[in-house]
Amino acid sequence: MCGIVAYTGCKEAYPILIKGLKRLEYRGYDSAGVSLAQNGTLSTYKQKGSVDQLDEFCMSKDRSGKTGIGHTRWATHGEPSTTNAHPHLSSDGRISIIHNGIIENYVYLREELTKRGYQFQSETDTEVLAHLIEDIYKNEGCSLEEAVRIALKNVVGAYALAILSADEPDQLILAKKGSPLLIGIGNNEYFIGSDGSPIVEYTRKVVYLEDGDVAVVSPQKGLTIKNIDDETTKRPYLQKLELNLEQLEKGGFEHFMLKEIFEQPRAIKDSMRGRLNVKKDIVELGGIREYEQKMLNARRIIIVACGTSWHAGTVGEYLFESIVRIPVEVEYASEFRYRNPLIYEDDIVIAISQSGETADTIAAVELAKSKGATVIGICNVVSSTLARITHAGSYTHAGPEIGVASTKAFTAQVTVLTLMALSLGRKKGTIPLSEYHKIISHLELIPQQVEETLKLNDDIKAIAKFFVEKRNAIYLGRGINFPVALEGALKLKEISYIHAEGYPSAEMKHGPIALIDEEMPVVVLATEQDTYEKTVSNIDEVISRKGRIISIVTKGDSVVKNKSTYCIEIPETLEILTPLLSCVPLQLLAYHVAVLRGCNVDKPRNLAKSVSVE
Ligand code: GLU
Repeated sequence: MCGIVAYTGCKEAYPILIKGLKRLEYRGYDSAGVSLAQNGTLSTYKQKGSVDQLDEFCMSKDRSGKTGIGHTRWATHGEPSTTNAHPHLSSDGRISIIHNGIIENYVYLREELTKRGYQFQSETDTEVLAHLIEDIYKNEGCSLEEAVRIALKNVVGAYALAILSADEPDQLILAKKGSPLLIGIGNNEYFIGSDGSPIVEYTRKVVYLEDGDVAVVSPQKGLTIKNIDDETTKRPYLQKLELNLEQLEKGGFEHFMLKEIFEQPRAIKDSMRGRLNVKKDIVELGGIREYEQKMLNARRIIIVACGTSWHAGTVGEYLFESIVRIPVEVEYASEFRYRNPLIYEDDIVIAISQSGETADTIAAVELAKSKGATVIGICNVVSSTLARITHAGSYTHAGPEIGVASTKAFTAQVTVLTLMALSLGRKKGTIPLSEYHKIISHLELIPQQVEETLKLNDDIKAIAKFFVEKRNAIYLGRGINFPVALEGALKLKEISYIHAEGYPSAEMKHGPIALIDEEMPVVVLATEQDTYEKTVSNIDEVISRKGRIISIVTKGDSVVKNKSTYCIEIPETLEILTPLLSCVPLQLLAYHVAVLRGCNVDKPRNLAKSVSVE
């Protein structure tokens, strides 16, 4: 969600903050702000809109200061506005605070603080923290760090916080619970970020804060970490930041999303590297080796995820049930965690999240663990919360995904799920050996076939024109391509704001068919072999009602092609592997439609990356 950046050291803080905010803007982008410590006071500048707008606003201001904090917001409480933008100040203006997350008991705290005479400037939940900390700091006669720790004991919710005070202008106080925060260690200087992107060009030495940590950094006094409830100082655990700068740049592409779509052959290959060796007949995921036996004995597998990861999980359901023959349930993490689900000790829960910080998924994992289930994580960000709290897991090696609409993370997740299913199926003996060999040799070809599919970019751009004026679209798919239909519809909704729905093809006649007329584009995934004839009938049903078919077919198909207004031919593979190819034209289609409609592809309205609030 929102982005946090902070700096303290001997350099000017402002350029570091602004550059960091630009890198973080993909996480939230409705407003931005900075506070700088200047000669015993704080200067705070905020603007509704983009980081560029903030930077322009600051041009005429005093931007000096060697310690500062910066924030890009994704509003949860209070509309996007300059007043609601972070940082928020204490009433005397001497404490400034930025926050990622939600303070759940803010209504109660606000009422209490109002009774005590505090006046609120904004509608945010965050502002209560500034006044609460000020109240404790002034009345308890303690240090600011102590005041923060006492305040946080009274707070319910999730947060990553960076706090700057005019009283101690060379220091930052940081705290984390539920939202990520890391400290980059430089030469007598500290770079703070809600992810590695604002830090990586300065240092690779980082400390990931743990839930409950309150840290103080200062060039003079160094770094100390305590727990909210515990006075004793913790030893910081230094790690290497695995990120490189080129991955955070657009590399000649017009948008991150397009770059990331084109990175898929590499992302899939990297996710298979060291795990699939067809010649040696090896499919092995090192990260889950110790838990494989448990997985093989599982009574069932529950996959928990949100959004695009949920779609990947649904592809996983088809893969696991057909290859490993263990029943699979795919759950929205947000539903799962609140409905008192039945979880058994011999259940395996697979949690999928690109960022590894998705709040609902993290909570679902905690719940499953508390009931004794074994939890396996699939995520893209090394050392993320998900990676740390699961029993075991496998990383997708997609590289940083900056575009808000997920693309390469989806195909990388499906790749890892495919490998997992194959490795388990082989060991369990639930897949005939000949079938297994056929799948792995086709899987190896996928990166190259995605490359081929990407060559359709110009054709798809032409097809996108057909969608520009449309208000609705239907996506249909069967079997393992049903989740791809959902994913295709989600992509179109997210970035072009055209209403789109995905359905299993045969469900169309149970309702959505009522919507079909000459205005309705119907995107049909028609690559499957077993139910091909049925899909052809569904297509005929659409055409008889004057709907327009845009089909995704296997190269060489003529039957569906002849019935389609537009047809996209993808390379031939096994049905079970088609999602890795069939999703690509749908990503490109959504991208080009959005560009033609003049939408901000990388920063679609109302959306943010890494959904670390509930
Ligand atoms: N809840 C806070 C707000 O609405 C922080 C949101 C965020 O994480 O950006 O201002």
